[in-house]
Amino acid sequence: MESPGPSRRALFRGQLLTRPVAVINDDCLAEAGIVCRSCGDACGTSAIHFRPRIGLPPQAIVNEAACTGCGDCVAVCPGDAIALGAARDGGAS
Ligand code: SF4
Ligand code: SF4
Repeated sequence: MESPGPSRRALFRGQLLTRPVAVINDDCLAEAGIVCRSCGDACGTSAIHFRPRIGLPPQAIVNEAACTGCGDCVAVCPGDAIALGAARDGGAS
């Protein structure tokens, strides 16, 4: 017989999956060929790094494990390209 509700483990995982982190979408100015590092400069925990690319400015990447969900990067993004959303990795690591 199955247990009547979610296990404690499932509840814990659910909590982690809803931990807010910065999520960057395609409105990032770098996708339009414009160099910008405002989010990285604003992040107090250095959770955003910039991955070099050929043919486009470096791509901003969020290290979800280091992101506290403070929202400072959201406020400074000139492209309105960052929102707080659920961590893809479940917050593990
Ligand atoms: S601040 Fe916004 S536009 Fe600038 S690199 Fe970060 S996500 Fe892209
Ligand atoms: S939400 Fe805060 S901690 Fe996370 S990437 Fe943005 S500025 Fe850094």
